Amino acid sequence: MDIHEYQAKEILASFGVPVPRGGLAYSPEQAGYRARELGGNAWVVKAQVHSGGRGAAGGVKLCRDEHEVASFASSLFGRQLVTKQTDANGKGVYRLWIEAASDIAQEIYLGFVLDRKSERIMIVASAQGGMEIEDLAETDPESLRRMTIDPAVGLTEFQARELAFQLGLKGGQIAQMVSILRACYRAYRDLDAVMVEINPLVITGSGDLVALDAKMSFDTNALFRRPQVAELRDRSQEDPRESTAGDHGLSYVGLTGDIGCIINGAGLAMATMDMIKLAGGEPANFLDIGGGASPERVVKAFQTVLADRNVGVVLVNIFAGINRCDWVAEGVVTAYRQLGLTIPVVVRLAGTNVEEGRRIIDQSGLPLISADTLAEAAAAAVASRPRQAA
Ligand code: ADP
Ligand code: MG
Repeated sequence: MDIHEYQAKEILASFGVPVPRGGLAYSPEQAGYRARELGGNAWVVKAQVHSGGRGAAGGVKLCRDEHEVASFASSLFGRQLVTKQTDANGKGVYRLWIEAASDIAQEIYLGFVLDRKSERIMIVASAQGGMEIEDLAETDPESLRRMTIDPAVGLTEFQARELAFQLGLKGGQIAQMVSILRACYRAYRDLDAVMVEINPLVITGSGDLVALDAKMSFDTNALFRRPQVAELRDRSQEDPRESTAGDHGLSYVGLTGDIGCIINGAGLAMATMDMIKLAGGEPANFLDIGGGASPERVVKAFQTVLADRNVGVVLVNIFAGINRCDWVAEGVVTAYRQLGLTIPVVVRLAGTNVEEGRRIIDQSGLPLISADTLAEAAAAAVASRPRQAA
């Protein structure tokens, strides 16, 4: 789960990371008021969306007076901000963060991620941070410093100092960096984060380190024990199709084609996506109904998949181990009748109670298309699409 920059800054500040003073605004008037409240003569107005790359997309601006703050704010509110990291729809801007402008001498990149290979938290850092960090990762990957943290010992002072030296920090900056690194590590570990990123962490004109941007992402499976983090969820930033499915305990992934897929298990879902592509089609989405799919769950799954208007055909592919094919078949028949479906539905069942499941599908009197194998099912789904791709 992602959170907003201002929320990440508040969390990191509570662990001891220095951040600029700022305030949240829900309207242009409030943005102007926040600037006045903060004082000074320069502010940065920042769109709060769950995405990086806002600066390059026009979502961050340095403003010199209160009117400029309010007028830039009014141009942002309600807009869909499209960045390099979002899809073509972008993310809606409903909150702004107004912050005192910092005087920047240097921008550093600092990231904490989970390195699956070493099974450890890894720090990635660069002395050349800022908005071009992704280009740098491509053109000069060697300039990125990497360091893994031993979970039994945690991030030690000497490791943190070594990284500070590698980044070329001097004098008092070294102690500041050590304290920032340790704070980020604690925030990551104590709150079940999966990512903490500060880009840029700047050296100000007076030589101090300050986090001008912050990003945190959390392990969804651990949210049950982190209620304060779970509260920070902002549904306006999520794909509504995925959040609704999540509410029903289903996992849904939205894609861009026209074949809706109801499958059990992520592995089988991946294989099904591949087979659809191989057969010349494009999946619109896939929904994992998991184990223990009752007929009611199957109906919910159909509703979720069909909420995507691009869906022209539904492919149900179930390999029943814990599941029961007869239940799934009953669910398919019920869904077809209850939801008054008119589009083609291809059903491939295998595993527990498969004969009974098949019988229910074949004797339903509905125009359901049965398939024996995954390859057959994918081909049938592609062939029965109403609008054939050009
Ligand atoms: P994003 O990463 O989404 O583009 P950032 O918060 O990193 O957004 O802002 C983009 C750039 O704007 C930063 O790299 C920095 O140069 C500048 N910036 C951001 N906040 C401030 C601030 N408080 N004072 C001065 N410059 C800032
Ligand atoms: Mg940034």
